[in-house]
Amino acid sequence: MFEHIERVPGDAILGLIEAFKKDTNPQKVDLGVGVYRDSKGNTPVMRAVKEAEARLLKNESTKTYIGSHGAPAYSDVVLPMVLGSDSPVLAAKRASATQSPGGTGALRLAADFIAAQLPGKGIWVSDPTWPNHHGIFTSAGIELHKYPYVDADNRLDFSGMLAALKKIPEGDVVVLHACCHNPTGFDLSQEQWQEVLGVLRERKLLPLVDFAYQGFGEGLDEDAYGVRLLAEKLDEVIITSSCSKNFGIYCERTGCLIMVAKDVEQMENVRSQVAIVARENYSNPPAHGGAIVSEILGDAELTAMWREELTEMRDRINTLRRDFVDALKPYGLDQKYACVAEQRGMFSYTGLTPEQVDRLRDEFGIYMVRSGRANVAGFSHENLPYLAKAIAAVND
Ligand code: PMP
Repeated sequence: MFEHIERVPGDAILGLIEAFKKDTNPQKVDLGVGVYRDSKGNTPVMRAVKEAEARLLKNESTKTYIGSHGAPAYSDVVLPMVLGSDSPVLAAKRASATQSPGGTGALRLAADFIAAQLPGKGIWVSDPTWPNHHGIFTSAGIELHKYPYVDADNRLDFSGMLAALKKIPEGDVVVLHACCHNPTGFDLSQEQWQEVLGVLRERKLLPLVDFAYQGFGEGLDEDAYGVRLLAEKLDEVIITSSCSKNFGIYCERTGCLIMVAKDVEQMENVRSQVAIVARENYSNPPAHGGAIVSEILGDAELTAMWREELTEMRDRINTLRRDFVDALKPYGLDQKYACVAEQRGMFSYTGLTPEQVDRLRDEFGIYMVRSGRANVAGFSHENLPYLAKAIAAVND
């Protein structure tokens, strides 16, 4: 029965991890994988998470199912985190959250919901985007299209993006990254979000905002600017939120699908359909990550501790971005790579070509994906001089 099944190549990033492990170069640098790293190269458990888990262990009284929408305590804290505590959308009861296995699970719920409830509508993603967007939407049977996002000089192609959005058929879905665009690091300014809002409205398009890095760009509220603008100004918005990065709970699979509708009546109708999608996929989401988040955000002391740790992570990334460009100054390459300091989040489209990426790997033990996307959290003050020297060598 299985004779005809062909083996497909593994994930390129997993191959990179394997190659990195085998490399014996003592100066090797991993800029590939998509998780936060501290100055020692570790992805530690946040202190607030440890404390919340200790409390949960002590107080947990049942492990019964939490229901298809997940724990109400989780949506009670996540909705204000995403939409703002004084959100008019929340006051009007136009938004509903369904807890999901990570941001990926939320995207999967969104995809199945769109396929079932908006049949025939296409979906538009930035070129490039997080590769999993392609698989998630096409496997749900939705026709996938791309809009431009980066130009040939490795800059945000906002005019190209806007022109493409203006041609999208009415009612189609547009995927936008709320902040910390993966893989490029190029984010929209507030003015650009306003312009996007205008086009979405004019063309009657449905935004799906992927919010996987809240707090990693400029701040928890600052990063939510676009999400909140669209939710407040449009009748319908789909938001996929993840707590993997900002709480560092990658393996606990914690996120949610937020559906914003015109009014409470339509929101309840939509919510009832999302429950079916969740049930058919996995019945109930895992509880532990959501419980950690609600424990932290429900307690002023833990919230303060978590915010401080999140700020440390964000500041570290943004400082390393600037210091990277500074380290290239002696080689006259600071202008060429100035975009790295302007981009936000964990990833950077450095502008390094696939051939340069290959040379960095083969000659210097520096690993990143061939698109030239680097995980900035893999930079450190120890390895920046080495990275700069290597980049200068492959620019010769
Ligand atoms: N969207 C984007 C743009 C991402 O980069 C990621 C994680 N790499 C996700 C969604 C999914 O996040 P999670 O790990 O919570 O499933």
